[in-house]
Formats: sequence, C-alpha cells, structure tokens
Amino acid sequence: MKNFNPADNIQDLQYFGEFGGVNPSISDSSTYTFLSAKTMFDTFEGNMEGCYLYSRHSSPSNLYLDKALAAMEGTETANVSASGMGAITPTLLQLCGSGDHIVSSRTIYGGTYAFLKNFTPRLGITTTFVDITKLDVVEAAITAETKVLYCETVSNPLLEVADIDGLAKIAKRHNLKLVVDNTFSPLSVSPAKLGADIVIHSLTKYINGSSDTVGGVTCASQEFIDSLKNVNNGASMLLGPTMDSLRSASVMKNLRTLHIRMKQHSHNAMYLAQRFEKDGLKTVYPGLESHPSHEIYKTMINPEYGFGGMMTLDVGTLDKANALMELMQSKNLGYLAVSLGFYKTLFSAPGTSTSSEIPMEEQIEMGLTDGLIRFSIGLDNDIERTYQMMKACMMELEILKSKATQTA
Ligand code: PLP
Repeated sequence: MKNFNPADNIQDLQYFGEFGGVNPSISDSSTYTFLSAKTMFDTFEGNMEGCYLYSRHSSPSNLYLDKALAAMEGTETANVSASGMGAITPTLLQLCGSGDHIVSSRTIYGGTYAFLKNFTPRLGITTTFVDITKLDVVEAAITAETKVLYCETVSNPLLEVADIDGLAKIAKRHNLKLVVDNTFSPLSVSPAKLGADIVIHSLTKYINGSSDTVGGVTCASQEFIDSLKNVNNGASMLLGPTMDSLRSASVMKNLRTLHIRMKQHSHNAMYLAQRFEKDGLKTVYPGLESHPSHEIYKTMINPEYGFGGMMTLDVGTLDKANALMELMQSKNLGYLAVSLGFYKTLFSAPGTSTSSEIPMEEQIEMGLTDGLIRFSIGLDNDIERTYQMMKACMMELEILKSKATQTA
C-alpha cells in the first residue's frame, strides 16, 4: 500500500461544469438524444464509448462519482447505486447462480446477513457463515461450488477485522472472488490494494457523511462493472438500483471533505475508547492494543486516517444500554439512531436494531451481547468535554462509579 494515498487520488481528479463551473454539471435527464439511428444501435451494443443511452444504465453525473470512488479504492472503475444493499445484492447475484456457494463472515451487516441467509437460497445459492478471523476455518468451509469469499473490513457491529491479505491468498488459491464491504473504513483501508477483487461501500455512511441519503458503490475491474451493467444479463442494469443524478452530484460534493472528517472521527473515537477502557468499561475499538486484531489492523491501514470512528461499549444489560442511550440523547450528546458516519455521534443497541435479523442463538455465539452499544463517534470539537459529559451520564446510571467508590 506504500505510495497509495486514496485522498490524493481523489484530489488529483479535475472536473468542470458545462459553463466552466467548478462543480460538474448535473445531468438532469433520464434519456439522451442521438443524431443518427446508427449511433443509437451501436450504443445499445456497447460500442460507443462516451455516448449515453438511458440513465438506468449510466449518466454523466454517476460516471463522475464512479470515477472518484474508483480512484479512492484503486480499482479500474466503479458503479454507484441507490443504496449499499443496491450494490451488494447485484454484485453477489452477478457472481453466483443456482448451485453456487458463498463463504461469508458471520459478523456482517444484518441486511446482508438476511439476504444471504433467507433470500439467496430461494435462487439456489447457499452460504456458509464462518468466523472470518480464523483463516483455517475460512479455507475449510470452501467447497467445489464456492464462488465468493465475502466479508467486511471492520465488521458490523462487533468490529472484528478481516485479514484481507490472508483472505486474498486463500481466494486466489481456490479461484474465488474476494468481495469486501469497506463501509466502516473508507480511506483508512484500501482492500483492493491488499488483494480484494471487489470493494463495496454503503455511501450512506462516512462517504456521504451527512445522513441525508442512501447510496452505494461497487468498485471493481472494468470487465466486472461492464458485466453488472450489461443490458442483456447485468444484475445492476436489470434489477435497477440506479442512483439518481441529483444525488450523485451531492454525494460527490461531500466526498471532498471525507479525508478531513475521517481523521477527526478517528481521533475522537480513539480518545473516548482509551478513556473508557481505562475507566474499566468493556470497550472494543481496533485502535486499542486490547483489540484481538490490533496488530494486523495496524499493518492494513493508511495510518494518517486512523482506526476509524466506530466503537462499542458493553454496559452489561439491555435495560442499562437503553437508559444510557436515552439519557445521552437528552443531553444532546448524540442521537439514538442506526447508521453511522454523521457529524453527530449516533448510538444504537445492535442486538435489537441493525443486527436484529440475526437469530438470538447466533447473536450469542458470535459474542453480540445484550448490553452492547455501538457508537459512531461524531466530529465533536472538544472531545474531552464530550467524554466528561458521557461519563456523567454513566455515573448517574451507575454504569460507572466514581473513583472513590471504585477503590473502596
Ligand atoms: N454494509 C454495511 C457495513 C452497513 O452498515 C450497511 C447499512 O447499515 C449496509 C452495507 C447497507 O447499506 P444501505 O443501508 O445504504 O443499503
């Protein structure tokens, strides 16, 4: 990953609007005219580079954002979509058909888990869920039918770290595609540079960063993206999860500040994780030495963007978790809301929200406890002040006791 800086790659792209505007013009059209019928035919056949046909296939605004996100991930190209699930589901359906098999991390976003567990079996695609941190277990789950290895760089919600380099080697050995959802760690980790074949993001989160839209992207080779958009058999073209041009233009503007935001999210999360761990709370954050994958994660990241903005605290019981979240919200420390990557801290109890699709016994097996709160730490200016305010909430609810009581 040496010499690869994703933010510099984005900055090096230059676009102008139709009248010399500093932002590219927004293509506010669903369909495009042709001067000749022959050009229209050739465009349908995929033989006319630079011609637009219909906006479900591609639009100038979406192509600008595709290009920026491909530059960020270091892939040949990309395809934006209307949501993260709108990127994940066509990608997997393009790679797998009836009779095929997927080996997936068991700690993934609940919607992806539900898609693999409940939906794809209807199409004859089966999935084995494994502990992705154990490379021998991953390899042992591969069968003659396996086509895809699927994981999240940093998993939702347990913040397990996938050894992408190790997984890529397994994928190569067995001729599989390694698909990595990098939603939690944009800029920090560049999975394609570590050997992933396809990198996916829910743009809804850090990349857009303003919690005003859903969006997604698949970053991959030109060949794979062309197959996704193929008018005859492309899963994105035929299922239709197209991002609207007005939205892609607004996501593009927010992408411009991603590097500044990621540094601040990481700084704030590291600060709080260190303080709360010291206070004796069960704290999970990949930047802490106590995190089981801290050492490997250190070798994977572009260090200037840090260990990311996601952290979990286990406060013991669901009742305590709920009380703490309500109290913190009432003190304006953040919002009791799912999602992540907002300027304000967001918190939720994953067992009863974003991971509720995962059956209780499987939640227990993967270590998803009742009292777990997932935090997406915001861009707070004075994080010591935030820490003191959070701590006061915890003392009020007797989740943390005062120093004097603790030593007594
Ligand atoms: N991947 C991860 C890691 C997520 O957290 C989410 C949503 O929470 C998704 C994918 C799905 O993205 P979207 O909600 O944009 O469809």
